[in-house]
Amino acid sequence: MTPIEQRNELLANKVIKSLSTRHIDGYYSATSADAIKKVLTLIPQGSSVSWGGSMTIRDMGLTNALHKADIYTLFDRDMAQSPEEAQAIYRQAFGADFYISSANAMSEQGDIVNIDGNGNRVAAIAWGPKKVVFVVGINKIAKDLDAAIKRARGTAAPINTVRLNRDTPCTLDGVCHDCHSANSICNQIHIIRNSYDNRRFTVVIVGEELGY
Ligand code: SF4
Repeated sequence: MTPIEQRNELLANKVIKSLSTRHIDGYYSATSADAIKKVLTLIPQGSSVSWGGSMTIRDMGLTNALHKADIYTLFDRDMAQSPEEAQAIYRQAFGADFYISSANAMSEQGDIVNIDGNGNRVAAIAWGPKKVVFVVGINKIAKDLDAAIKRARGTAAPINTVRLNRDTPCTLDGVCHDCHSANSICNQIHIIRNSYDNRRFTVVIVGEELGY
């Protein structure tokens, strides 16, 4: 194991320990391939599954693996043929057994931060699907909650506006201007700081840089 791999595992284990004090289960997977296997073991055959607009879970191949497994009912908004169909899938997601998301940032203490324009992702995370599984690259872990919010707003959000080609000030210079643009993707900021002891949330930390 290289020093970087060792450090990633140490850091992940520290965060997982913090999560357990908040009644949130955590696991560490050194690679995306291992993380995919882990997520599939967490979701029983026959479950209904949906997910948010996360680059992480698409780029690492998790959404493809869920389709390929062919043992789940999937509510996949990428399959929508129209904006209306996408909206219908957003609503179906609330009734899913499992919702999969990444996070825009996490603190070492276990806070989970997400920013949303539409609100469908943070709404489903907050309430609706029976279980929520986060898949989080090691690059998303910040020193504390303030640093996590700064990361989500100052790093993740401007990259996403560029990706989505939004008409916002950050698309022009890569820096957050705390705008009130109607095209902002930062309309809602959601923080999980604790959970009931119902194991609704699970976090799989991956020892690779994933997403933004
Ligand atoms: S400038 Fe606006 S859209 Fe861009 S990151 Fe800041 S708040 Fe979000």
